[in-house]
Amino acid sequence: SAHFPRPDRTRFIAVANQKGGVGKTTTTVNLACALAEFGAKVLVVDMDPQGNASTALGIEHGPGCDSTYDVLEGRLKISEVKVKSPEFENLEVVPSSIDLSGAELEVADLPDRNELLKKALATFFLESPSRYDYIFVDCPPSLGLLVLNAMCSVNEVLIPVQAEYYALEGLQQLLHTIGLVQENYNPYLVISTMLITMFDRRTILSKEVYDEVKEHYPDIVLNTTIPRSVKISEAPSFRKSVITYDPKGAGAVAYEEAALEIAERSAQVLNKINMKKQGS
Ligand code: ADP
Ligand code: MG
Repeated sequence: SAHFPRPDRTRFIAVANQKGGVGKTTTTVNLACALAEFGAKVLVVDMDPQGNASTALGIEHGPGCDSTYDVLEGRLKISEVKVKSPEFENLEVVPSSIDLSGAELEVADLPDRNELLKKALATFFLESPSRYDYIFVDCPPSLGLLVLNAMCSVNEVLIPVQAEYYALEGLQQLLHTIGLVQENYNPYLVISTMLITMFDRRTILSKEVYDEVKEHYPDIVLNTTIPRSVKISEAPSFRKSVITYDPKGAGAVAYEEAALEIAERSAQVLNKINMKKQGS
């Protein structure tokens, strides 16, 4: 789309929630694809040893594959590991592999263990001839060293919130953890975005969860919600995003609308990060 705004600077976004199954990976994959479809240059870093984002993006990632594991442990550069998405020319992926599950222990004694991804990304951007618009880091459902690396290498956290009864309890714990990261490791981190996932318009509960999140975080939660959709959940088994698997369906349309909202808020979010960096 000719009217799709590109951010003035690269946006570094970790998609995080310590709860499993809330839609982190689905959101990472489909937002990345929607933004790429609109012409943005996008890199997805898969930080989950399960490698679900790599699978969903159609990237091979068996044991022993070059992956985030090699990047974190300094054996390979991001430029050597990244692969092109088969779906979108301007979308690239740093795949994960199951070996990554050993990394937390293996790097635990390194003095810069929290900043391994940050440093790898810094090197990558220094050497990269082209500018990226969006970097997404898909986090595992934990709050360990992998997630800490993700949160130290970005400016923004995007929190997918599943429209279900216990959503808000888990959210409090996550916000507390992000607060600790801000205090101790990355003072410039902002929670830029919350996205309600698996929204079921037939239930009152879904609406209640949305209203409550909106009430507490009015500037952060997107107006767009992601509907519960069979097409969204079956797309990965065809190694596709829902954007290409079911392009006219409600799932693709919702992720495109969310992507557009995120893009339109770029100036506001980048400004907020700047203010933090200037100490105001
Ligand atoms: P996480 O990365 O937080 O663990 P996933 O993105 O893997 O969560 O989603 C968990 C499960 O829910 C997956 O099977 C996924 O296909 C499914 N899922 C995610 N979003 C939706 C949706 N909007 N509608 C239906 N199923 C979904
Ligand atoms: Mg996941």
